[in-house]
Formats: sequence, C-alpha cells, structure tokens
Amino acid sequence: MIIELNKHVQLIRPEGKSVFPYSNSVFIKGDPSILIDAGSGGRAYRDVKEPVDILLLSHNHFDHINGVSFFPDAQVWASREEAPGYEDATVYASYNGYQYWDKLMGQPRHRRLAQTAAMPDDVPVSPGFVPVQLGGLIDDSHSWDTGHEHIIALHTPGHSHGHCSFWLESSNILFSGDIDLSPYGPWYGGNYSSFDQFEKSVRRLELLDPAVLTTSHRRPFMRGEDNIAQLLREYIDIGLRKEHNILEYMKVPRAFKDIADQPFVSTYPARTEYTQFWSRMMLLQHLQRLERRGLITEFDDGQWRRI
Ligand SMILES: [Zn+2]
Repeated sequence: MIIELNKHVQLIRPEGKSVFPYSNSVFIKGDPSILIDAGSGGRAYRDVKEPVDILLLSHNHFDHINGVSFFPDAQVWASREEAPGYEDATVYASYNGYQYWDKLMGQPRHRRLAQTAAMPDDVPVSPGFVPVQLGGLIDDSHSWDTGHEHIIALHTPGHSHGHCSFWLESSNILFSGDIDLSPYGPWYGGNYSSFDQFEKSVRRLELLDPAVLTTSHRRPFMRGEDNIAQLLREYIDIGLRKEHNILEYMKVPRAFKDIADQPFVSTYPARTEYTQFWSRMMLLQHLQRLERRGLITEFDDGQWRRI
C-alpha cells in the first residue's frame, strides 16, 4: 500500500503487517529517484511505477534488506560501519551475538532463526546472510539531492552500530528506521547494539522536530495529530523503566537467570527462544550500564548485587 506523504514522497507499506520479515520503505521521486529500505515485500513494490536509481539501507537487518534483488539496477548505499556485513557472512554472523547464547540461555542454540518461521512468498530470501554489492558508503551528514528533496543521512546507532535515519529536509519528513516507536519499546539485542547510544540517537531525532515521522514498523506520525517528541520520549522510557525495575529487584543479590525470568525484563508478547535471547542480551546491557555507574557489580559466585 502506498501512502502519499506529499507530491514526491511516498511511504510504502507491506501488504501484510509491518512486522518481521517486512518493514516500511520510503520512495522519493526525482532525479535520481531514491528508495529507503527494501523490506516491504514484492507485492508492495508492484505499486512503485518508476525505476529506483538509488537504494539506501538503514541498517543490516533482514527485514530491511531482503528485497534488494527487486531493484537490480539501483546503486545500493549502506552505512560504512556495517558495510563489511554485506560482503562477509562471518562478519554478518558476528552482529547477532550468538556467541553469548549458551551462557545467557543455559543451553546451546538448536534452531536457526530461519527454521523458526516460514517466509511469505513475496520475500525472496530466507533469514540469514544476504550478500549485497554496495555502490556507496553512508557517513553521518552525507546528503543526496533529487531535485525536489534534500535527503540527509543521520548516523543513529544503538539499535545496531551502523543504524541510519534519513531526514528529508525539504519536506521535514524524518524516516527513523528501527527507532520505530514499537509499543514494546526499543530493541538493542544485537552484539553491537547499545542502549546508551540508542538514548542519544532518540534525543537527536527529537531535536529535529519533524513535521512527519515515519518509522520502519508503524503508521506515519504527523505533527498536529501526534505529539512526536512525547512519543519518542515514551518509547525510550520503556527501556529506562526496565532498568529501574532491574535495580529495584536487586535489593538482594540475584543470579542472572533469576533477573532474566522476571516479567518486566521481556516486553514482547511472543515468547520464542529468540525473543527470550534478545531480552537477555538487552538485560545484559542494562546490568553493564548499572555497573559502569557504580551501582551494582557481579561477584565471583555469579550473583549480581548492589554496592
Ligand atoms: Zn533492525
């Protein structure tokens, strides 16, 4: 489905729900024409009637890049930080943090993510490494001109280390990717994710005060109808509240597994082994943050306690 944000900017929404393996894309008409992200599924892209000259990828997660092959003539750009992960399967695998699986889950990983869900027929590849030939590397503040629109890349790490948002300066439309205003809160469960950086990135976007905020997984938010700054603050507050609850729970020494089993640690409705793993990766981030602030420490017996 296409939502016309203005005469030359279209939000492309997947035919199914905008959740994994799908995500929203933004198409900017012009010369060159630019598409942001490629995870809306083949059926959604049938509505794009003009050729895509440049494809910008917000980050190297499957639900944003699985449809790159639909645009064989586009020059593909991705962040400099994550560029190696588009060329090398081993580097890509290191982004997932599965080396921590045994320790965090207490048992080996038996099933690959690709084995846990069948892909819809308009997603051309299976979860895992998707090799992409890059034609350009995105650094913070890099910009593109399409004639009607000036597009500025903003390096907004936290969700992943190379995560980028794109500000359509001429229209004051912000595409914030997986700073997605999910009701379950921010996701920072990868090996190079960082809640510290996530917080900073959200504050940076808030200061832009966009007229329209489009994210990868929700409807567009419009100034006048939605309080975009407040939505961003409430979103990051979900992570901060979790951290507060973790610290409260540690009035007595606690083992990692004990903390991990508390309901406030996982904000996801689905309880798969993967959502559990990501919740635990995120818990580890909060424990390390609290440790850096001198509030807690891990003792030799494996218990975390306040100091
Ligand atoms: Zn992502």
